[in-house]
Amino acid sequence: MLKILQDLLELQAVDMRLQDVHARLAAFPKKIADAEARTAAAKAELERSKAAQLATVKDRKKYELDVEGWKEKVRKYKDQTSQIKTNEAYKALQHEVQMAEEQIAKAEDRLLEQMVSGEEYDRRIKISEKELKEVEEIVRGERSKIEAEKAEDEKALAELNIKRAAVVPRIPEKLMDHYDRIVKKHNGVALAEVRDEKCTACGMRVRPHVFQEMRRSNSEEMFHCETCTRILYYYEPASSAATASSATPSAPAGSLSNET
Ligand SMILES: [Zn+2]
Repeated sequence: MLKILQDLLELQAVDMRLQDVHARLAAFPKKIADAEARTAAAKAELERSKAAQLATVKDRKKYELDVEGWKEKVRKYKDQTSQIKTNEAYKALQHEVQMAEEQIAKAEDRLLEQMVSGEEYDRRIKISEKELKEVEEIVRGERSKIEAEKAEDEKALAELNIKRAAVVPRIPEKLMDHYDRIVKKHNGVALAEVRDEKCTACGMRVRPHVFQEMRRSNSEEMFHCETCTRILYYYEPASSAATASSATPSAPAGSLSNET
């Protein structure tokens, strides 16, 4: 294979990994925002429970005042009893007392209801506080995991950039421009392997004389796919390449570790 093709393949391998790393890095802000949104939701739930609790306390105070107000009236009516002269007036006063006592009973009922719902809100606040703590704990764990992954990707990015900077100078500027154009056109993949005399990227058959030339071990020409324009490269299959042994032979997949 041409030396320059090997350089381009190295560049492509680096660029494809760079693409992955960039995609992962771009996804981190959303991952962090999602995690934080969960904490915010748990906090909002707690705030709602607290607000409801506060409203109950206000209502309770109001009903307590109501009860006190009506009790005060009953006391006044009863004080007036001694000054009453007629039976009618006495009956009327008795009626007022009865009405006031009914109001007291109603206000006390409402007060009791508020106390019951107050207990319910106390319970909800406790649950919300517990849930918030749990969510915060989980999110803290998630965040540190995300931060660790991010740091790893940033490290990989720096390493890949160094690798790329080492490969790029080996490629002539004109060819580099060409490579960049194909990369942009074809989703980051500028080179395509020829297998079974076909471009593996688009499936187009390679002309026989081109294929012959590509197989020549001392070929100096560079070929493009006529359809997708990608730069073509070819590895002689290991079985039919006893002479061209530049390709690394793959060790047979081990079945040795199996014990019966
Ligand atoms: Zn093609």
